[in-house]
Amino acid sequence: IEEREKFRIEYWELEEAKLRRMPKPKPLATRIALVTGAGSGIGRAIARRLADEGACVVVADLDAQRAASVAEELGGPDRAVAVTVDVTEEEQIAAAFREALLAFGGVDLVVNNAGISISKPLLETTAGDWDLQHAIMARGSFLVSREAARVMTAQRLGGDIVYIASKNGVFAGPNNIAYGATKADQAHQVRLLAAELGEHGIRVNGVNPDGVVRGSGIFAGGWGAQRAAVYGVEEEKLGEFYAQRTLLKREVLPEHVANAVFALTGGELSHTTGLHVPVDAGVPAAFLR
Ligand code: NAD
Repeated sequence: IEEREKFRIEYWELEEAKLRRMPKPKPLATRIALVTGAGSGIGRAIARRLADEGACVVVADLDAQRAASVAEELGGPDRAVAVTVDVTEEEQIAAAFREALLAFGGVDLVVNNAGISISKPLLETTAGDWDLQHAIMARGSFLVSREAARVMTAQRLGGDIVYIASKNGVFAGPNNIAYGATKADQAHQVRLLAAELGEHGIRVNGVNPDGVVRGSGIFAGGWGAQRAAVYGVEEEKLGEFYAQRTLLKREVLPEHVANAVFALTGGELSHTTGLHVPVDAGVPAAFLR
């Protein structure tokens, strides 16, 4: 805590009087998390789990209203604050971290979760599709991680960066050139940053979900219809379809992804970095379909 206070004053050139709130030590307690895309789906579940475990959470999302409502759900300003951020914009990212500092005194856990999904066959994928997909997920998560590393190395308290990547970054899904390529990019960012930041006590890991249909804005916003057409199932039965193709015959929910984030950052895996944890109920372990 002392180190953090010193950092706040030196790095951000703030006076004590300007700080709105002091860090509040609680279980998982010295953790202050910033989760991008936390206004919906998987990000929202991650924010909720981290808050339940005692972390203070910055709910960062492009959609101001959804971010505000999640921050409220998590218990309001003592536990969570909402920031509107477009992860393609460097200044907005810096402002989001500054907000974390003002609200809670620092940041030591960052989750790169914000994303969209452009899923088209190669010949229909435009340069604009490619650029947008990469701007948000490859470039956006790079920018967020770079800011996280700036803050965490200055704090000298170590930290965690987690990427919500995807099975699609490891295996070739159908009609997936733009999205799948950005997920592979994120997967390699995990390894590169784990190598570069390890000496600062900053661990960088990834979570690879698959088929999180219920609660996902990506699925509701077109990816679901597209996937249903590819697999020849009705869109409302897509969750069940995904469940049946897993080894466990279980649907993957946002909470299951949040469990993996907690497992990676909650303290027990303190010597694990550069790892990707699949949360897919066992799809890639076997050839199914
Ligand atoms: P979602 O649409 O419910 O959530 C994505 C959030 O990101 C939204 O709140 C959206 O407003 C926000 N966002 C989009 N663009 C942004 C930007 N430029 N700046 C800041 N925020 C932005 O979708 P989800 O299914 O919860 O997906 C979350 C993450 O999980 C994504 O990275 C996605 O690729 C990944 N993922 C999802 C699945 C799945 O099955 N749903 C599988 C693997 C990986």
